[in-house]
Amino acid sequence: QEITKHVLITGGAGFIGSHVVRLFIQKYPDYKIINLDALTYAGNLENLSDVEQQLNYTFIHGDITDSQLLEELFSKHAISHIIHLAAESHVDRSIADPLQFVRTNVMGTVELLEVCRKHWTLGADHLFYHVSTDEVYGSLGERGLFTEQTCYDPNSPYSASKASSDHFVRAYGETYKIPYIISNCSNNYGPYHFPEKLIPLFIKNILEGKPLPVYGDGNYTRDWLYVADHTRAIDLAFHNGRVGETYNIGGHNEWKNIDLIHLLCDLMDKKSHKPSGTSRKLIKFVNDRPGHDFRYAIDASKIQRELGWKPSVDFEEGIEKTLDWFLDNRDYLGS
Ligand code: NAD
Repeated sequence: QEITKHVLITGGAGFIGSHVVRLFIQKYPDYKIINLDALTYAGNLENLSDVEQQLNYTFIHGDITDSQLLEELFSKHAISHIIHLAAESHVDRSIADPLQFVRTNVMGTVELLEVCRKHWTLGADHLFYHVSTDEVYGSLGERGLFTEQTCYDPNSPYSASKASSDHFVRAYGETYKIPYIISNCSNNYGPYHFPEKLIPLFIKNILEGKPLPVYGDGNYTRDWLYVADHTRAIDLAFHNGRVGETYNIGGHNEWKNIDLIHLLCDLMDKKSHKPSGTSRKLIKFVNDRPGHDFRYAIDASKIQRELGWKPSVDFEEGIEKTLDWFLDNRDYLGS
């Protein structure tokens, strides 16, 4: 098979990255997929055990801040395209250790851009696809949606580091003509989600009969999207998106945290044949996260209009699939 693109996927052993790597390996046998991941606490090669033997796939254990390694990779594999997902991704960790977020999310992104600047020739078939978050837009009140025109207004060290990385990608596009696309997506959920994040953490705690810590009054509102729908959007924008554009991706699926937690509790009671209301008793309101954004919600009409993307998995169906996956893969939760 002749290779048509050499695609470097960073962070491919993480939650969303593993879905992207799997999709690209299976759907594009003519692409060489090179997964570069530092295997931090959030990276797990087990996420890819079903595809790791595929001929069009290579895993490289390494750090995106390591410029020498990037140089070697580009020379050896003639990388033509990047899908950049490697990041520190947990807001609470960013509050405890902001510098690690600057190193990986800002410095790591700039190191990747630098190696592209050195190796890529103007006008050739190249793309730097940067995967980012809706959190860069800050917080909404009760009304309104984030569009691609919304000003950046990040509130946590995590969102500030992602906002900074988005700005660098755009700046390299303007200054050095690196072809890029950025997508900003809402909260993802689904299989292989690391169990420090709300949905898998609460499934784990319910299974273990441990308290379910809810920040503040539980009225924080997030838009949730099934991870396979995000992956499909990345695939579409990577192939058909307009270079130099941003696409917002979201589920049109807003949930107050407390309502989502009630849904999870009730579904878990049903699945484990417990009297209804059992798991809700584990809910414990805890002190708020500092700088906590009240509400995020995405206007995804641009990607729908231009690329024909819309979410395909209904939330209750997606949550049920997710619960079933975690119940079948309890090892993943360590319970
Ligand atoms: P994750 O934390 O599950 O995975 C991150 C991966 O990056 C891990 O495999 C980790 O080992 C790797 N990594 C971390 N630092 C690295 C470094 N210095 N060098 C190389 N690899 C490194 O994250 P995720 O939830 O899959 O998110 C992936 C991307 O999508 C991130 O850029 C994140 O900002 C973005 N995003 C996530 C969400 C979400 O809801 N999870 C929503 C929108 C955007």
